[in-house]
Amino acid sequence: MAWEEFKEQTAAYRLLRGAVVSGRVAHAYLFLGPDARGKEAATRWLAQALNCAAGRGEPCAACPSCHLIAAGTHPDVRSLTPRGRHIRLEEVRELLRTAAASPLSGHTKVYILKEADKLLPEAANHLLKLLEEPPPATVFVLTAARDYALLPTIVSRCQVVPFRALAPEVLARRFIAEGHDPDSAHRAAFLSGGDADEAATWLGAEGQRAVAEFLELAPAIFYGKGAVLQIAAAYQVDPARFLTLLGAWYRDLILWRSGRREGLVFRGEEELLDRVAALYSSRALVRSCRAIAQAARLLSGRSTVNVRLALEALLVELAQAAV
Ligand SMILES: [Zn+2]
Repeated sequence: MAWEEFKEQTAAYRLLRGAVVSGRVAHAYLFLGPDARGKEAATRWLAQALNCAAGRGEPCAACPSCHLIAAGTHPDVRSLTPRGRHIRLEEVRELLRTAAASPLSGHTKVYILKEADKLLPEAANHLLKLLEEPPPATVFVLTAARDYALLPTIVSRCQVVPFRALAPEVLARRFIAEGHDPDSAHRAAFLSGGDADEAATWLGAEGQRAVAEFLELAPAIFYGKGAVLQIAAAYQVDPARFLTLLGAWYRDLILWRSGRREGLVFRGEEELLDRVAALYSSRALVRSCRAIAQAARLLSGRSTVNVRLALEALLVELAQAAV
C-alpha cells in the first residue's frame, strides 16, 4: 500500500526508479512539495531499493533487508522526524553519528531527515559539511513541503525530487481505500485541490466541523444583512478556509443549476443544493463565483485589508445576486 502512494507521484517515481536501475544514485536528495505520505513512502522505497538482496530495481519486499526497513529497524537506515518546531544541532548529530562508519549489513547507508525546513542554522551547517564531502556508500534524503526556509547551500547540494498535488480523484481513492466515507473523501480531495497534506486536514475532526458549520450557514447568505454580519464575524479569523468552502459551494450551485449531477464537491448535500440553487439564476451564480475569486485574491495578497469588511462586502454582493 505504501509504495502505491509513492507511485502516484509519477514524476518522482520515474526519476528515482531511473536512478536506481541505472546505478546513478545521487549522494543527496531533497523530496520537495506536498504529500507527506507520498514522500514517506518514497523514502522507504528508495532505502529498500538500495539495500534489497534481490538486486537493484524494484524492491522485493520479501528479503530480510526489505523487512527490516519496512519495520524501521534496519541498522543502516536511520531517520529523524522533528518533534517540535525546530530541528536542533544535537538531533542532527545523533542522526549522523554513524556517518563515518561503513554500512553494517546492507549496501548503502540511508539517512532520512524529514521536514528539513525546520533545521536551525547550526544544525543545517553540521549537515552541510557532510553533504559537501559525502561519505562513500551513503545517501541522504531530506524532505520538505517548501524550500524557502532551507539554506540555499543545502538545496544546491541535493538533487531535488518534485512532489506535486495529485489529481483529486486519485487522492479520493486513497482515502476511500483507507476506510473514509466516500463523500467526505471526495470533498476533502477537491477542497484541497489535490494537496494531500491539506486534504488530510479537511478530513480531520476540525476540517469536518468547518464543513458542517459552513453548510448550516450557507443558505443564510441569501437572506441578507443580519445573516451576512453573523457569517462575516464568524469567519474573519480564517477567511482563506471560508473562501475555499464558499468558492466550492457556488461552483456546485452552478453545476446543479445547469443540470450536472457529477463531480460535485458537496456530494451528499443534493437536497440543500437543490433548495439553494432554485434561489439564483445561472447568470447570478457565475457573477457570484467571480466575486468570490476576486475577494480571495484581495485577501491573500494584502495584510492591510480589513478582513471583516471585505467579507461583508462580498456576502452582501452574493445576497443581492439572488433572484
Ligand atoms: Zn528485498
